[in-house]
Amino acid sequence: MLLSGIHHLTVLASDPKRNAAFYTDVLGLRMVKRTVNFDAPDVYHLYYADAQGTPGTLMTVFPFPQAARGKRGSGEVSAIAWHVPASSRDYWIRRLAEKGVGFDGPATRFGQEVVTLLDPDGLKLELVFSADPPKVVTWNPSVVPAEHQLRTFHGVTFSLQNADPSLALLSTIMGARSVGTEGVRHRYALGEGTEAAMIDLIVDANLPWARQSAGSVHHIAWRVKTDEEHGAWRERLLAADVRVTEIVDRKYFHSIYFREPGGILCEIATDPPGMNVDEDWSELGSKLQLPPWYESDRKRIESVLPVLD
Ligand code: ZN
Repeated sequence: MLLSGIHHLTVLASDPKRNAAFYTDVLGLRMVKRTVNFDAPDVYHLYYADAQGTPGTLMTVFPFPQAARGKRGSGEVSAIAWHVPASSRDYWIRRLAEKGVGFDGPATRFGQEVVTLLDPDGLKLELVFSADPPKVVTWNPSVVPAEHQLRTFHGVTFSLQNADPSLALLSTIMGARSVGTEGVRHRYALGEGTEAAMIDLIVDANLPWARQSAGSVHHIAWRVKTDEEHGAWRERLLAADVRVTEIVDRKYFHSIYFREPGGILCEIATDPPGMNVDEDWSELGSKLQLPPWYESDRKRIESVLPVLD
């Protein structure tokens, strides 16, 4: 039983309009869902992804308009990387420059070129140029031509004071395998073939604890394809004395949550039922979707949420 790489990443932001403009108008992702925080409906929950919100491409955001920036440190996902076709390298360098987005690189890491940039709230994003990147469902109305669109997540960086307890869980229980070390970066892979996600551990005993706010990754969700596997993963974690939640219905997927020993909040989420449970593929993200228990409050919720477009 293997995890199938990353299902989604959930991040915190400040201004929702600026956030949406960056991920859709600069990076060219599709907003595939516009909903609210199910526990606090006055805050948006926005989903960006490929054309169909395929797991492995999903980034979700809680934008709190007045939020201060988070502080980088130990116990967090400190960078998110996407696969991008190597042939699109010059396109992206030109595009970022044209859009006034500062970036570093390309630098070479594990034999691949990487460009590093920050989102408007200071979250570190990486474009990893891959000779044969995994395929996604390209979105034709995107401002980025199909051949240059971001593909699946290449992986994440974990910043930790001490890797040992985290590694015990990641490798022994979750099935991550060592890929190699380059400088301060210890790379592990989770998942098989094109679904594999890289986890780069950067360990620094002197790191202060991260403080989560705008520009921080809130949690990482690992992917399973069926509810049966999901239940089995919950049992496996419980058997390893990991404190894991009950199964939670997130409408578009089912979730369990646990904190890995380094402090990073992890989730395991299912492919089913998917992004089209409440709107057709062609309409994804076009209207505010509310869970049934908030429908009666729709008018008030719509009136307090900032206008996005
Ligand atoms: Zn999640």
